[in-house]
Amino acid sequence: MSDRCAGSCLCGEVRFEIDGAFEHFYLCHCGLCRKDTGSAHAANLFSSTATLTWLSGEDKIRQFNLPATRHSKCFCSRCGSALPMMQREGKLLVVPAGSLNSEVHIRPNAHIFVASKASWDDGLDKVPLFPGFPP
Ligand SMILES: [Zn+2]
Ligand SMILES: [Zn+2]
Repeated sequence: MSDRCAGSCLCGEVRFEIDGAFEHFYLCHCGLCRKDTGSAHAANLFSSTATLTWLSGEDKIRQFNLPATRHSKCFCSRCGSALPMMQREGKLLVVPAGSLNSEVHIRPNAHIFVASKASWDDGLDKVPLFPGFPP
């Protein structure tokens, strides 16, 4: 069974393909991920077996490693979008779920580091839903 998915950054310069299955899908609410994403939590897929192929824009990719932590981020230097990266000396592929353009065959496994979640990140399932802008 082929398990291939494609992704790109917001401006479209960087495009990539991933071959293989993901083992974990975590929503991380830690302070570093909140700052990094500007949102309530990061949404990252993890795989120790899948392969990542850059199709375009590899020269636009930058990596930021936060000193004294294991937190790092790959992003497009043109539009700032989060991009996949290898961690643990190339043994672990980390893919921001929002960077993918295809469906993934895995649902989030867990919310993690919820002890550090934002004060407003509570009962969000009770917030009104609109299909587009609010009326
Ligand atoms: Zn871009
Ligand atoms: Zn985190």
